[in-house]
Amino acid sequence: MSLETGFERVILPLEFPFTISRGTTEETENVIVRVSDGRDEGIGGAAPSAHYGETVDTVEAVLPTLLETVEGVGDPHQLERIERRMRERVNLNPAARCAVSIALHDLVAKRLGLPLYRCWGLDPEDLPETSYTIGIDDVESMRGKTATACERGYSTLKVKLGTERDEEIIETVRDEAPEATIRVDANEAWSPREAVRKIEALAEFGVEFVEQPVPAENPEGMAFVRERSALPIAADESCVTLSDIPQVAEIADIANVKLMKCGSLREARAMFAAARAHGLETMLGCMTESNASIAAACHLAPLLDYADLDGSLLLADDPYEGVSLPEGGIDLASVERGTGASVR
Ligand code: MG
Repeated sequence: MSLETGFERVILPLEFPFTISRGTTEETENVIVRVSDGRDEGIGGAAPSAHYGETVDTVEAVLPTLLETVEGVGDPHQLERIERRMRERVNLNPAARCAVSIALHDLVAKRLGLPLYRCWGLDPEDLPETSYTIGIDDVESMRGKTATACERGYSTLKVKLGTERDEEIIETVRDEAPEATIRVDANEAWSPREAVRKIEALAEFGVEFVEQPVPAENPEGMAFVRERSALPIAADESCVTLSDIPQVAEIADIANVKLMKCGSLREARAMFAAARAHGLETMLGCMTESNASIAAACHLAPLLDYADLDGSLLLADDPYEGVSLPEGGIDLASVERGTGASVR
């Protein structure tokens, strides 16, 4: 069989400037990968994160090598072999490898005439709903964003913290969304003692869990917080690839996996299995990414306790259609073939 491949860069403006403890983004760039067998075409997206050492330039620099590997193997159903060879030729660069992994899985499922979750034997019913993220802003703007999220029907909010005014923010969001499930993400901004103090206050507002309170470089600090925390702790920056899972189980309660950190759908599934074996709850997060990659992530939802797949929801305009997310619900059952990603 001969496969044709290609890739292109897309600019994705965000609906609102998005601020977390590390900085602000107004637009993002993804790289879209295509793999075709001449009849069906698989689509995947790379949403590189500078925090993990990637940019759209590094993605575009390694994609020719990755796609040459795909064409060399030739059979898209040889996913294990292709992904192993890609890792042998291009170590790191997880977002670039992941875009190829997603495009291949989309193509394989289309060739089989099935939605991806059915290729994996997963159940599309009773899925966790995705959270919708409220980025850092002045307190009144965060009130406005919370009101907008509630109007749009999102009932699980993820609030970015890591400021001087964290308590005021959570008080305001809770006031505006009294019924919502609220989880928070400090993106490594706190010291361990500060985290314990702040989490005590957050617990008063019925927060569900706290993501990455302290820097990943400080696992002892994470463990210190977790031992004293009034709320469950999720590891995100501390939880990158499969080999991190045993340590994550020592320092957190929830493993937040992201495709763009771990580099492949197969690695993500292995991480969920390992997380369960280590007594962790599972979560799948995302970067600011288009439906070209979010659609594939949605097919992992049956393996999750918590979903944070709002990458496309935060865009002003996504050129790709994906799995529909009405009011945050993940409507996997409506996907007919592949991941459900297509050009709008
Ligand atoms: Mg996070």
